[in-house]
This record gives sequence, C-alpha cells and structure tokens, in this order.
Amino acid sequence: MTHLTSVNKGFIFKQMKTNKGISASPGVYIGKVYLYQEERLKVPKYQIEKEEIEFEFSRFLVAIEKAKSELEAIKDATKIMNISENEVVMLDSHIMMISDESFINQIKTILSEQLLNIEWIFYEAIGAQIEKLSASQNVYMEERVSDLRDIAKRVLNNLLFRERIKLTGLESECIIVAHDLLPSDAIAMDKKNVKGIVLDVGGKTSHTAIIARSFEIPAVVGLFNITRMVKTGDNIILDGTAGIVILEPDEETTKIYLEKIKRQEEIDLHLKPYVKKEAVTNDGQKIAVSANIEVPQELESVKSHGADGIGLFRSEFLLLQSQLYNSEDKQFEVYKAILQNMEERPVTIRTIDIGGDKIIPNYEEIRERNPLLGWRGIRFCLSNKDMFKKQLRALYRASIFGNLRIMFPMISCEEEVDDALKIIEEVKNELRSRNQEYKDKIPIGIMMEVPSAVLASEFLAKKVDFLSIGTNDLIQYTLAIDRGNEKIAYLYQMYHPALLRLIKMVADVGKKAGIPVTLCGEMGGDPRATIVLLGLGIEGFSMSPASIPIVKKVIRNVEIKEAKEIVDKILQNGSGTEINTIIENWFNERFNGLI
Ligand code: PEP
Ligand code: MG
Repeated sequence: MTHLTSVNKGFIFKQMKTNKGISASPGVYIGKVYLYQEERLKVPKYQIEKEEIEFEFSRFLVAIEKAKSELEAIKDATKIMNISENEVVMLDSHIMMISDESFINQIKTILSEQLLNIEWIFYEAIGAQIEKLSASQNVYMEERVSDLRDIAKRVLNNLLFRERIKLTGLESECIIVAHDLLPSDAIAMDKKNVKGIVLDVGGKTSHTAIIARSFEIPAVVGLFNITRMVKTGDNIILDGTAGIVILEPDEETTKIYLEKIKRQEEIDLHLKPYVKKEAVTNDGQKIAVSANIEVPQELESVKSHGADGIGLFRSEFLLLQSQLYNSEDKQFEVYKAILQNMEERPVTIRTIDIGGDKIIPNYEEIRERNPLLGWRGIRFCLSNKDMFKKQLRALYRASIFGNLRIMFPMISCEEEVDDALKIIEEVKNELRSRNQEYKDKIPIGIMMEVPSAVLASEFLAKKVDFLSIGTNDLIQYTLAIDRGNEKIAYLYQMYHPALLRLIKMVADVGKKAGIPVTLCGEMGGDPRATIVLLGLGIEGFSMSPASIPIVKKVIRNVEIKEAKEIVDKILQNGSGTEINTIIENWFNERFNGLI
C-alpha cells in the first residue's frame, strides 16, 4: 500500500462496478471490504466466569458514571439555552434514578448469582421494573416508565459502546465501507488495519475526511449508496486520489492499479528530500509550512513530513475524544506534552470549535435547525464560559513549556474578539491568584472563516497578533454551500472569484497592520493552489502533514513575481471553473511527470 500525494485525474475504467465519489484523502489500496453498519440496540447474552464478576461490575459503574456526566452536561446546556424548567427537573430525576444505590446493589447481587454479562443483567433488571410500573394505571408511574426506558437506553448505549466502536479491534486489514462515520469513530479506529474509508455521504472537508487525511488513510466519500452494493469480504479497489471505488475488479484493472501504486511510490521517493528542505521561493522568500493536526498521535507525522510548526491544532477532537473537556489539569498535561514535543517550533492551538458537523456527544440531544449557522465555535465558548476558561487556563499554564499561540474559531464580529480577550485577562488573574506560572505574552489570533470577519478584518486586525484564513468554512459561508453535503459538492469552488478576493483582502490587511497572515484550510495543502496563494500574498501555510513535501517542492520552484502575474491574470476572470483550468494547465506544464 502506498499513499498517493499527487492528483491524477481522468482515470477511466470500463468496469461495470466503478463508482465515482469525492476524493477525500489520497492513496490507493487494493483489499477487502468491511461493511460497518450502526447496530440496532441488540443486547448480547453470554455466560461469564466467577473471576469476571468484578470486571463486569466495574464496566457497569463506568457506564453509570458516564451516563451521569452526560446528563449533567445536557443539564448545563439546557440552562444556557433557557430550556424549560421541566426538562431540568426530568434530568435531575434521571440522575437520581441512575445513582440509586439499592438498584446498583441489586444488580451486583444478580450478577453474582446468574454469572451472565452485565448488559444482559441490567437489561433484564430494568425490564422487570418497567413491567411492574407499566401495570399501574397511575399517570405518575407512566412517566417513570418512560424515564426508565430513557435511562436504560443511555446506560446500555454506554455499555455497548465497545460494540459501536468495533473499528478499534479489527482482525485483519480492510477498507471500511459505511453510510457515515462520526468524527469520533474515525479518530478511534484501528489505524493498523483500516486501510481505507468509503462513505455514502460526506464532502472533501467534512471532518471524517480531514481525519482520514491526517492519518494518511485513503478515502472516498459521497458515494450515495455504496453500502447497499457491498458486503463484508468483497474485493475492492479504493483510489482516494481520483475519488474512485471499483468493486470486484477484474485482473486487468487490478494490474493497472498495481502499476499506479508503483508509480506513486516513485513519486513519494522523489518528494522525500523535500521533507528536510526549507520552503523558500526561487526569489528568496521564506514561507512557513506548518501542519494541521487533530490529536497528539499525529505529532510523529508532523515531524516526519518536515513541518515548521503546528499551524492548526483542532483541540475539539482531543477534548471530545478523551473526555478531557471537564478537566483543566488533564488538558494542561496534554498541551504541555505537545509543546514540549515540538520544542521551540510554534504550536497554534485553536480553542474548542464545537458545533456544525462536530457535535459534542454530551450535547447530541440539542437539535438546531441550522447547526452550521448556529451555536458553534467561539459562540459556544462565550456562552459556556466555565468550559472555555478551563481550556484557556490549561493553555496558559502549559505556555511556559514551548512556543504556544492561541487562536479563536468562527469569529464573526469585533465584540466576540473583545469578549474573548476579556476572558483571557480574567484567566490570567485567576492564575495569578492561584500562584500558577504562565507566559504573559502569547500571540493571540483569530480564524478568518466567516465572510463578515474578513470584510471587517481591518478592525479585527488591530486587536490580535495574527490572522489565519480557514478556507473550508470561508468557502462554505461565502458560497452558501454546506461543506459536508455531497449533492452540492460540485459548487464548492476554491477558485471562486469571491473567495480569491476575500483571501487577498485578509493578506493586504495583515500587511498593513503588520501582523502575519496564514492559511490553514484544505486549500493550503493543494499543490495546485500554492502558486495562487503565494500570488495573493499568503506567507504561511498550514496543511495535513502528508501534503507538506509536495507543497514545499512547488514553493521552491516558483517566484513570487511569477505568482503575482498569474494572480493578476486570474483575478480578471469571473468564472471559478475557467480559473481552475488556467491553474491546472499551468501546473501540468510546470510539473508534469515530476509530481
Ligand atoms: C477551516 O474552516 O478552513 C478550518 C481550517 O477549520 P475547520 O476545518 O476545523 O472548520
Ligand atoms: Mg473552520
């Protein structure tokens, strides 16, 4: 298996079962399907040994604790969102029911007597209670029944979580085919055996796609109904670079793909020296090339691909994955470890960007009509101040161990910047009164990913130390395209004249204000876009680690003067599609055969 880092388009097959989707993560793999489907709540029943009683019971206690903290978190959220008192009362009663000691003891007794797995014991015990209460005609009792059902589901879900994330314990190498994968599922999957991801839904910058790229697992998404066309064990070729999936390939096709893999290995070899080279243009301008990561496990990949630093650490993945969310101390330890690991290199940690397609598990119950336009990013943080401060305190405490920069997501107006900066001052005061050490001068930056922030950037730039353009969301919000919706993925244009103008505006504002402007959206890792971004005035890029060598190669082979000329030309064009053709032609002419 190899990872394709260049984009070879136009590969056409006569195969009947060739399916074209969206290329979400490059690379080719030839292997077997593992069809991953969300299981319905099916409660397993099996015998256990006497020695396993303690372990089974401890699983139960963990599931109960988790259910309790989920309920507490929902309760907090309902308070913030001004949801009715009744809901809070109901949640309190659920918490009380879950914590009922006599019920917990009863479970332990039955477990020791029957020697069956805990899911089954719990399911039966709560089922018996439900049955008893259901026999009553009392309205109050009816409500208790629905409460019990709710709790049963929650605890069983937690107990069966091991089932749900089966992707962690796969027996052999495979390509996961699923309708959708939650980002948390994708993060938790067994990276040794998952060799590819194929999804019915999703777009290029959906978070599962980003994670696939970070883990260098080829992926094709947006295939509509691929899950209905395969079963576990089927043969499959996944071409993440071209966005193609071939089912039950014939010998000839397999041969072509084996050659393709070999060719890519040669390209990878050719790009290898660029890992160690500096990103300097032919006319001498140093460009910072950094990495985007989601979890600390990727630090190795950051270094092995030659990143100058971390330009975007999406902290939400870490916080949600390991439930660090509620613990300042645990967060501090993780941030400290990341900073120490990166030594003097800059590490930009973005504060938690919850919402949109990144739903926090504890808040699953909260439904918004338009989550992408809703309670997201800095908006969520500012109305969830305790959580936000916890993260900021942890970050400031960790700051003494390295070169930290803090960045706020989804900024849309000046007031949000002011509020966030005020909270930083409060956090510093708190640390001082606790006698805890921190670095006073940490560069504070904001994401430029909402058009209003870009258009008002001259005001925002006066208040912060750096700007970072998030093209994934900036495209989404400028062009009014849900970035995860495969039906409209064709409209997702990186070279839309509107977007190019917005990027230029931020670059110009940054220069005028004397603060750095970087770009950390997926566009930054596309080697074809490099010349355009350089011409628009971007001096720092951040991308999935695997893209770093190829982007460095492009940077080292162009001049800023040339980039500016190309940009002057394309800015005269009103069609994103035509601009794409101009750039594609230029790229092929310049680098054809080399990358
Ligand atoms: C972006 O929007 O471009 C970005 C980098 O942030 P995220 O992809 O995490 O939303
Ligand atoms: Mg974003």
